[in-house]
Amino acid sequence: MKKTMREYDLKGKKVLIRVDFNVPMQDGQITDDNRIRESLPTIEYALEKGAKVILFSHLGRIKTEEDKDKNSLRKVGERLSTLLSKKVLFIPDTRGEALEKGIEEMKEGDILLVENTRFEDLNGKKESTNDPELGTYWASLGDIYINDAFGTSHRSHASNVGIASHLPSGIGFLIEKEIQNIEEVIQNPERPFIVILGGSKVSDKIGVIENIAPKADAILIGGGMAYTFLKAEGIEVGRSLVDEESIPFCKEMMQKYCGKIILPIDTVNAIEETPRTCFVSDTKETEMGLDIGPATIKLFSHYLEDSKTVIWNGPMGLFEKHPYEEGTKTLCEVLNKIDAKVIIGGGDTASAIIDMGYKNSFTHISTGGGASLELLEGKKLPGIEAIEDI
Ligand code: ADP
Ligand code: MG
Repeated sequence: MKKTMREYDLKGKKVLIRVDFNVPMQDGQITDDNRIRESLPTIEYALEKGAKVILFSHLGRIKTEEDKDKNSLRKVGERLSTLLSKKVLFIPDTRGEALEKGIEEMKEGDILLVENTRFEDLNGKKESTNDPELGTYWASLGDIYINDAFGTSHRSHASNVGIASHLPSGIGFLIEKEIQNIEEVIQNPERPFIVILGGSKVSDKIGVIENIAPKADAILIGGGMAYTFLKAEGIEVGRSLVDEESIPFCKEMMQKYCGKIILPIDTVNAIEETPRTCFVSDTKETEMGLDIGPATIKLFSHYLEDSKTVIWNGPMGLFEKHPYEEGTKTLCEVLNKIDAKVIIGGGDTASAIIDMGYKNSFTHISTGGGASLELLEGKKLPGIEAIEDI
């Protein structure tokens, strides 16, 4: 168990909080502020307790001087200030006198935002390679370190692992929620425990399948990866996405977890631009499978109806292109009706579900794409491991 913010007396302390403000931006404007909103409970708690809150985050990737302008956190600071209805002091530097003086002058309940941590990557990739000098310097600015940047916790950077090794530390409420809803649920699920996997490639999900298959009561496979499984079963899949190298792995899984891995029975195929629904075995050489069909939804629903825990990663079809979003959408409807804990992991899955209007329909939608996949793989994340145990 990791220490949380609740284990510390934050009053009057300089609390360094690593948040994930890596929001999508277009033409200098924030297009989705969900990540800022997700960090509010942690920030508000620290402010209420009388902390001096010093925020660190990265935004985008910084490879050249020109990347700095469009990836400044200034706009994020303004949005945060609006959301908190409170002044946020933005320091346009990642180190130096202005930052140190700004922190020195803070009072209890004040909040300060440091410029994009990755600006330090121009200086020999110091942030992304967890340069010891940088982590030590940042840690020298505060008394307590709280990591709440779930989306970067699978990386070992100066602003998470680096700072954490020098200060009393804890996790924030967002990371706590992610651990409770992914890691702890996998360890001890209420059964029946059903896992739904989809997305493009089997090779991206090998670690997830290996970790989850022994624990789940059934694994329902859709999306592009289903066609590699079907091909491994000897079914002709035409021009569908097939990950040839993963065929032996699929064969092994089908044998090892015989009866537990459930594959689609029908498919929505594209012939040129026209969609056609048919049984998987009727797929023609020229066709490409882009979604699961209604019979498969019915089959999957049968498993989901009386389930108590569901974890879903990977869209059921090429949801970006109409009408191949139908399988993913119908699955959302099914999951919305059942009486189970439903947890969504994976970057594309989360954005598909939110775009389809199911943002508030499920128990938990993970805020970290890569990080949530690594938790599903059963891995320990360095940004969380670096935090003190209770
Ligand atoms: P996540 O980011 O949630 O882990 P993935 O990255 O594994 O999910 O998969 C998402 C991608 O899979 C989407 O871009 C989607 O279009 C693609 N996909 C799903 N089904 C198919 C399919 N049948 N053929 C091709 N691509 C597919
Ligand atoms: Mg993805």
